[in-house]
Formats: sequence, structure tokens, C-alpha cells
Amino acid sequence: MYILNYLTIFDVFSEFMVFTNYFKTMKKQAAAAIPTQWGTFQMIAYSDDDKERMPHLAIVHPAMNVQEDVVVRIHSECLTGDLFTSKRCDCGEQLHVAMEMIAKEKGALIYLRQEGRGIGIINKLKAYNLQDDGLNTIDANTHLGFEPDARHYDPAIQILQDLGITSIQLLTNNPLKVEAFEKTPIQVNERLPIVIPAHQDNHAYLKTKNDLMGHFLNL
Ligand SMILES: [Zn+2]
Repeated sequence: MYILNYLTIFDVFSEFMVFTNYFKTMKKQAAAAIPTQWGTFQMIAYSDDDKERMPHLAIVHPAMNVQEDVVVRIHSECLTGDLFTSKRCDCGEQLHVAMEMIAKEKGALIYLRQEGRGIGIINKLKAYNLQDDGLNTIDANTHLGFEPDARHYDPAIQILQDLGITSIQLLTNNPLKVEAFEKTPIQVNERLPIVIPAHQDNHAYLKTKNDLMGHFLNL
């Protein structure tokens, strides 16, 4: 009887924790103007609290007009590609093309801190070793015990809502990103392709994205 009561209280407590987490929402923590080679943007940091060292970021054109479709890129962090211009993937080049588009179309880029499709940099480097041994990008992640793509887009939707954006043109080749907006208050009115030419170092990676992950890359 005692054990039963203990379990019941524990269950109620866990349910409560799940419930409160579900309603935990991010807040705008700080914002500043950032001049870049593509122009000056407002960078806004979002997190649950101001102690967060890896907040998600919104990079917003100062003349963005939320009364019209906003051109939006949702970019997941790829330290190797974005910062060190790794040629194993197309992330760095995609980020730069997206920044050009955001500058031209007065849009917004949401930078989500989910490195390596959500598995983190340590596991990403381990996955690269497996790929060097012949596995593709999906099998390497599965081999390490992860989903092929562990990314989640809920934070991006929360950020877009906070920015007052209701309808967008989404810069992506990834059908999962378009699907992520179904049953959300954000309307995707168009998908704008963001195609990076394949080269020797990224060809196998892009081919896997095209053939096995449903990305629209025409390879
Ligand atoms: Zn990458």
C-alpha cells in the first residue's frame, strides 16, 4: 500500500514536470545591431533564461515587414561548416547564400543551436570517422544510437511568433522543414530552393540528402 501511494505521488509529480516543461517558453534575452558583409541586421538572442550560454538566435533585417510573406531561413548550427568552411557539407555555403537572400528580401534567419543535426560536435566528429570508413551520413548517426535527423523546429516557430511573423517564404531544400510548419500558426506560402553546387568533397553527402532524405537537390 505504501509503495503504491509512493508510485502514485511520483507519477503525479512527473506528469506535472512534463506539463510545466511543455509550457516553458523562450524569451527575448538581448538584442543588438550587427553589421555584416551583407548589411546590418538586428541579432536577437532567445532562451528560457539569461544564464543560457547557447541561446538560439534570430538575425532580422531592420526593414522586415510582417504584413507580407517574410523570407525566412531556419539554419541549424554547423560549427565545422559555418565557421571553419568545412567542405564535408554544404552548411557554410547555404548560410552565406541565405544571408544574401535575407539582405535582399528583407527577411530573417533563425539560427538554431542544434549542432550536427542535433547530436552535438563530439558525436558529429565520431560520425565523420564512421563515414570515412564507408558509412553514409544516415547510417553513421544510426550506428552511434541517434536518429538520422534529431533536429527539432519548435524553437524556430516560437521565435517567428515572437517576431510577429505569420506567413513566410521558406528558404530550404528540406521537406521535413516545410512539414514542421503544419499545424502551427505560421503559414508557409512558398518554398524557395537554396541550391549549392556539388563538388568533389561534398558530393557523397549531398547525394545521400537527395536520395535518402528527400531533399530537393536535383542530383
Ligand atoms: Zn554542416
